[in-house]
Amino acid sequence: MRYSVLSLLANALTGQKSWKPAWRDAAPKPSYDVIIVGGGGHGLATAYYLAKEHGIRNVAVIEKGWIGSGNAGRNTTIIRSNYLLPGNEPFYEWSMKLWEGLEQDVNYNSMVSQRGVLNLCHTDAQRDAYARRANSMRMSGADSELLDQDGVRAMYPFLDFENARFPVKGGLLQRRGGTARHDAVVWGYARAADRLGVDIVQNCEVTGFIRDAQGAVVGVETNRGPIRAGKVGLAVAGSTSRLTAKLDMRLPIESHVLQAFVSEGLKPLIDGVITFGAGHFYISQSDKGGLVFGGDIDGYNSYAQRGNLPVVEDVAESGMALIPRIGRVRLLRSWGGVMDMSMDGSPIIDKTPIPGLYLNAGWCYGGFKATPASGWCFAWTLAKDAPHARNAAMRLDRFRTGHLIDEKGVGAQPNLH
Ligand SMILES: Cc1cc2nc3c(=O)[nH]c(=O)nc-3n(C[C@H](O)[C@H](O)[C@H](O)COP(=O)(O)OP(=O)(O)OC[C@H]3O[C@@H](n4cnc5c(N)ncnc54)[C@H](O)[C@@H]3O)c2cc1C
Repeated sequence: MRYSVLSLLANALTGQKSWKPAWRDAAPKPSYDVIIVGGGGHGLATAYYLAKEHGIRNVAVIEKGWIGSGNAGRNTTIIRSNYLLPGNEPFYEWSMKLWEGLEQDVNYNSMVSQRGVLNLCHTDAQRDAYARRANSMRMSGADSELLDQDGVRAMYPFLDFENARFPVKGGLLQRRGGTARHDAVVWGYARAADRLGVDIVQNCEVTGFIRDAQGAVVGVETNRGPIRAGKVGLAVAGSTSRLTAKLDMRLPIESHVLQAFVSEGLKPLIDGVITFGAGHFYISQSDKGGLVFGGDIDGYNSYAQRGNLPVVEDVAESGMALIPRIGRVRLLRSWGGVMDMSMDGSPIIDKTPIPGLYLNAGWCYGGFKATPASGWCFAWTLAKDAPHARNAAMRLDRFRTGHLIDEKGVGAQPNLH
């Protein structure tokens, strides 16, 4: 959408009354072919790819608040594909490829910035593990570089190399990794899905499920009335176990809060993403100048979107250990989101044992980077009634059969966000 300066001025003076919304505020219809519950990045991307790739356009995304009000709008915006295991790495590299074409695909500036992600190592064993990971990444077509201490020092001379309790020995660098503007990702998918006919229904909370005589899910109950559907896909992140509890379905997922922080605006200091390998800390700098950083999840289960102070202290300590000068920076604000922590740290994109119900969950604290591939694969699974090869390992029954994707760094290790 283009506006001239005069039109911008006119709209500013008239309170933007003549601006056309980027997507319709749809009222729910009595029935759809597919309902996606959850208007975060994953739900909206799923609806978009259902319409675009599979021609399934009688679709609604049902969101209890406003789109992007969950983790999609609360994360620290890091994207990367530096995973190890075959069940994960090709999927995340596919996501990275979709990120690289996303803005052209949905015709929206999502500020995808491939500024590089550097994971620091502090021991020889950690360096060996990164060498293995780097090789695995290359086998899936991803880029990876191992840096020695001088290589890291050339990029970030202000890290504590000399007096550190955990000296920086080197790092694993993925130059194609980086950040993307999280809200704009949501808005881009929403506008593109809306244009293909998808209904985005906000302020509509799913409160239960409609089931037929055989027990199949054939719709949802909402605070705006029942809506029937051929298929129902859940993409509600930290609320997943609350919704499946309504179906007496227990999941291998725990909900925990993850906090993040932003500082006052500074002159350019950190032009990439850095993760500490010896503590719970990672950091980047936003285009507005704020240092954006975070650490580990809060220790106890919670559905509250707010964190507790001991974790704030822990994150601050780790930050000081890595970048001592950060102690002079003033904190602007902090916030929290509810993570759907799976037991092996890897996600689930699958059908469920209940006919008509499909599941996209278990993203831990790493699901933002997965948004495009998650939507693409979930749309495939919904449309074909079977997983694509890219999400074939992300099965729900792996926790029963033992085919886990047990990878440090997917979500279970905090310093790799
Ligand atoms: C502080 C923080 C930092 C993070 N940093 C990163 C990072 O740097 N990189 C990365 O890859 N990942 C990161 N993550 C994780 C990432 O944000 C999530 O894994 C991902 O956003 C989850 O998918 P989503 O966007 O669809 O979820 P959400 O945006 O949470 O979408 C779920 C939606 O479902 C809605 N919903 C819930 N219940 C109902 C209901 N009953 N009816 C209707 N709607 C419902 C919610 O309102 C919500 O909008 C971070 C998360 C947090 C909180």
